[in-house]
Amino acid sequence: GLVDNIHSFKASDLEIDLAQTQKPKPDLTGLAFGTVFTDHMLVVEWNSQVGWQRPRIQPFGNLSIHPACSALHYAVQLFEGMKAYRGADNRVRLFRPELNMNRMRKSAHRACLPGFDRAELLECIKKLVEVDEEWVPHSDSASLYIRPTFLGTEPSLGVKKPSQALLYVILSPVGSYFSTGAKPVSLWADSKYIRSWKGGTGDCKMGGNYGASIFAQYEAVDYGCQQVLWLYGDDHQITEVGTMNLFLYWTNEKGEEELATPPLDGIILPGITRQSILELAQKWREFKVCERYLTMSDLRHGLKENRVKEMFGSGTACVVSPVGRVLYQGENLQIPCQQENSLASRLMKELTDIQYGRTLSEWSLLV
Ligand code: PMP
Repeated sequence: GLVDNIHSFKASDLEIDLAQTQKPKPDLTGLAFGTVFTDHMLVVEWNSQVGWQRPRIQPFGNLSIHPACSALHYAVQLFEGMKAYRGADNRVRLFRPELNMNRMRKSAHRACLPGFDRAELLECIKKLVEVDEEWVPHSDSASLYIRPTFLGTEPSLGVKKPSQALLYVILSPVGSYFSTGAKPVSLWADSKYIRSWKGGTGDCKMGGNYGASIFAQYEAVDYGCQQVLWLYGDDHQITEVGTMNLFLYWTNEKGEEELATPPLDGIILPGITRQSILELAQKWREFKVCERYLTMSDLRHGLKENRVKEMFGSGTACVVSPVGRVLYQGENLQIPCQQENSLASRLMKELTDIQYGRTLSEWSLLV
């Protein structure tokens, strides 16, 4: 269960201060990700003396933060990413939000930020989405992105556990990914930059991981690629792509048809889409489904021997994103990606059918 037996804020204590005016809803076509926000936000403050304050839903607006704030200086910070989807039945659903709450608690622990009751936070998020319900797009491909954020707000320069923290949640309507998402992406694979390492924070959703990745992303673009294929170790293990988990669908070295993704060994962000794809494909029982190491050499050999069927990224933003090309050691590796009857498009349909309520599932949570 999600209920945590610790001192936490409670959804039943929510104070709601509604906005006096409502912003116009934007046209989502061509809108850049995360640039428009709804009318309200959820805010909960914590300090080590009294613990959690009452949660508040208040008009969306700027924060006031001490200039020594530990989130700003030392990246004592984390976030989550999830979505609310409106079905054809006009009901709004979340997709496996308990998993986001679990991941957020883990990130908080790693960041030395205080614990909270995951069920209570989820209940507060549901209330927030309810208040801004009209911002959930009336569309079978757009959605409302939910960004829980947790900051250390320690107002001093000591490198230590924060004595103050701020948890808040903002909402941003996002358009359909299908126009670009279905197009295969090109990747730059180079061991020059490392996203995540054993003992590091790559398996937590901490902002520093992302800020540090931007430089490499621009180098990928300089090389004519769209995203970075993150490698790890002297054997050039394939780990993740951009901000997505990675899947290889192929005939493995033993001649078995296999869907493979790297194991959660501490350097992989435990994606909710990743977990859902693994569980779905296991249930089908049509091919081997495997968490295993994959190296660039495995990929290159597989391609040479025509054993690779598909490679794709997975994440909340685009669900699945096929890979068409990998630039590695000066060589362009072409990855097969048939558009029709592909595993990627089958997974896309199965998952979006659940998200938009076309398939009834325990993975859906009605708001
Ligand atoms: N890897 C990284 C590094 C990410 O930031 C994300 C996005 N949270 C993912 C994978 C995909 O995770 P999810 O399926 O939960 O969106």
